[in-house]
Amino acid sequence: MALQLFNTLSRSVQEFVPLDAAGKKVGLYCCGPTVYDFAHIGNWRTFVFADLVRRHLEFKGYAVTHVMNITDVEDKIIKRVREQQTTLREFTGQYEAAFLADMQALGCRLPHHTPRATEHVAEIVALIEKLVARGVAYQAADGSVYFSIEKYRGCGCTYGRLLKLNFDEMRAGERVKSDEYEKESIADFALWKARVPEDGAVFWPSPWGEGRPGWHIECSAMSMKVLGESFDLHLGGEDLKFPHHEDEIAQSEGATGRPFVKYWLHGAHLLVEGKKMSKSLGNFFTLRDLLGKGFTGREVRCLLLSAHYRETFNFTLDGLTGARTSLARIDECVNKLRELAGGTAAAGAATELETRFAAALDEDLNISGAWAAVFDWVRETNKALAEQTLTPAAAAVALAGWERVDAVLGVGPAPAAEAPAEIVALLEARQAARKAKDFKRSDALRDELKARGWVIEDTPKGPRLKKL
Ligand SMILES: [Zn+2]
Repeated sequence: MALQLFNTLSRSVQEFVPLDAAGKKVGLYCCGPTVYDFAHIGNWRTFVFADLVRRHLEFKGYAVTHVMNITDVEDKIIKRVREQQTTLREFTGQYEAAFLADMQALGCRLPHHTPRATEHVAEIVALIEKLVARGVAYQAADGSVYFSIEKYRGCGCTYGRLLKLNFDEMRAGERVKSDEYEKESIADFALWKARVPEDGAVFWPSPWGEGRPGWHIECSAMSMKVLGESFDLHLGGEDLKFPHHEDEIAQSEGATGRPFVKYWLHGAHLLVEGKKMSKSLGNFFTLRDLLGKGFTGREVRCLLLSAHYRETFNFTLDGLTGARTSLARIDECVNKLRELAGGTAAAGAATELETRFAAALDEDLNISGAWAAVFDWVRETNKALAEQTLTPAAAAVALAGWERVDAVLGVGPAPAAEAPAEIVALLEARQAARKAKDFKRSDALRDELKARGWVIEDTPKGPRLKKL
């Protein structure tokens, strides 16, 4: 079945057909983090959504090139570098590393390319030069270079592709230099920002004098550098639709005269405990805050993947506890299958679970349908296990099917390292005793673990600790 996606460009669900004539390669770009602080759970919803899109495309056999920029120069960053009297690289490096570590803790596949804006100033300058040469960008009296929306529209191009803009009501014709834009105004936006004293040591040379790139232009320059002038998918949070993504289209198509992106996908907002996340309400969470409360990245991922990407999602701590219960149900079933399958090799075509799961995701990533397929499968498998009607070969087939489904969900196996160090030490001592064929001691250690609330499950991949 063909994949259907809601394309913001056409405001409709469309069949996904990649630009690649062979129908194999897919270019995917997702706007990355501005590395001035730890990413919050609302940001993570977007990145987990992008990871789901990528994984599903890979499941379907596409060779995806996933690109995510790192915005490492921007107004807020420069302000903090100044306040903390540090260097740009030192300041942004720590948050970039934290971001990538969090991304992995959430089970996201790392993008193939994570270009930094500061390392692509030459490409950005070249793109601005093209826009100036085509007459849609100009240097203003303040020394900065702006994109002219009027000139762009005058060439027959449409500004306002992702959402309908009312040019009469909006204050068209103004200019904006700040990286934080007003949502209600259509304004010429800065491509190149002339150096000001507050920038300190953060500036580069350019044909228009010293300065630094604007935020929008970096995405156009870096996405097109890696994926070409036209590519398949551009993802981001819905708050980026306007002006950021609209400006990306204008800059890119204004420079190349070619369609920039075929499918635009936008993830909806996230509420926390029913309210807009804010530090003053105490409902502002980074991933680290949640890990500090004893939740795992796996549980956070599971909860973030529980709602359709185009629906506003209410993230709650109760929801996280629910995700923990759901994962425990899956883990228990999968562990039993693993035990029964032993070393039996799996053979055969896609299982019913995979077929139902993939069909649901093909419907514009209907994740609820996909989870329903998983939990129906867990229920039926548990029933068959209880009735002892499964053969080891059937268990191996079921397990292989689950693993292919999990390659998309990305929740992975239950982490074995959750046990405290002294429990792991007891397990290791028991393994050593077994190896030495000292079964009396090995049994005694097993009993001690049990007395402390842990059972050992022997699996083909080695022993696994499970909390009683
Ligand atoms: Zn972007």
